Amino acid sequence: MPRKLIQYSTQLIDNNDIKAVTSALKSPYLTQGPKVAEFESKVARYCGVNYSVAMNSGTSALHGACFAAGIKKGDEVITSPITFVASANCILYCGGTPVFADVDEDTALISAEQIKEKITPRTKAIIPVDYAGHPCDMDEIRRIAKKNDLFVIEDAAHSMGAAYNGKKVGSLADMTILSFHAVKHITTGEGGMVLTNNKDLYDNLIKFRTHGITRNVSGDGPWYYEMQDLGYNYRLTDIQCALGISQLKKLDTFIKIRRRIAAAYKAKLSDLKEISLPTERTNVRSSYHLYPVRLKSRRSIANKREIFQSLRSAGIGVNVHYIPVPLQPYYRNKFGYKTGDFPAAEAFYQSEISLPIHQKMTSDDISFVISAVKRMLKKYS
Ligand SMILES: *Cc1c(COP(=O)(O)O)cnc(C)c1O
Repeated sequence: MPRKLIQYSTQLIDNNDIKAVTSALKSPYLTQGPKVAEFESKVARYCGVNYSVAMNSGTSALHGACFAAGIKKGDEVITSPITFVASANCILYCGGTPVFADVDEDTALISAEQIKEKITPRTKAIIPVDYAGHPCDMDEIRRIAKKNDLFVIEDAAHSMGAAYNGKKVGSLADMTILSFHAVKHITTGEGGMVLTNNKDLYDNLIKFRTHGITRNVSGDGPWYYEMQDLGYNYRLTDIQCALGISQLKKLDTFIKIRRRIAAAYKAKLSDLKEISLPTERTNVRSSYHLYPVRLKSRRSIANKREIFQSLRSAGIGVNVHYIPVPLQPYYRNKFGYKTGDFPAAEAFYQSEISLPIHQKMTSDDISFVISAVKRMLKKYS
């Protein structure tokens, strides 16, 4: 019998989650009811931030954050090449121009030095991405932003519950976005949120999520509302927020499990000559959305496809995060990016493989991954 594939990440839904969703389905509201505000305030409290706006995906949340930051045609926004395409696409949605700053070799996080080099008079914002769950160097990024009068939008799709200098991710930037996609720490199926401590940004985000409409105006009568901006329907349903509230109760446990798996990998794989393991800076507590290992020898990098395939055949759902965004055909064609433009990101991509790490893995799964990785890599030392 072939073993069931151990996915690189997956959701864990229990009976309490199912009960929460069932009761939302039986309530008078399927959407725009009380569960939305409850989920928003509970996430805000967890992340240590004053305001939060739930949206129907992390991508919508990024779009909203760029809109609230006032990104428009002619503006440049700096982000990382090692991320999911959404971190850069949100800039394009607003008519802005994404500018990529290469990453630091060891963490694959956007390099503060590279950000400085990419700043022009047109730069309006920075979108650092907490790749794999490890917060970026936010003190340094905030310092650069302050000096150059830029917004910071932290893409924390990977880093909910992570900490930087003892402070939870959520209040380290002007706006922080979360994703509740099924592979992320907690899920609402699809879903996202923008966190901020700024009331004006919050007001704009609330309007943006509902067509640019507000009811906080007086006019012809009690029915009156105004459409003040071109917004979207980016609302998250009560059904999904009920699931989110239930999932949030388990977030700390989920992160604990992810960190335990990372510790097991570190204990058992760190003396392998063929790979290097992800680093965790001393002032950071990663929430390990991913466990990205890097092949080290030229021989193993040249054989990455074969190593990847053999791990997959063994039932290990390895993945690769990410193909550098500027090297996607759309970005190459539109902006003329080419191989060689982002040496650190490209070297990272060529050597990276994500090992499974998620709350559903058993100790048997963990040992299975460890021994398969050891066995496969022996051939390439
Ligand atoms: C998942 C993800 C997003 C987008 O989130 P969705 O909820 O899937 O729209 C954005 N940025 C990063 C880095 C992600 O991993």
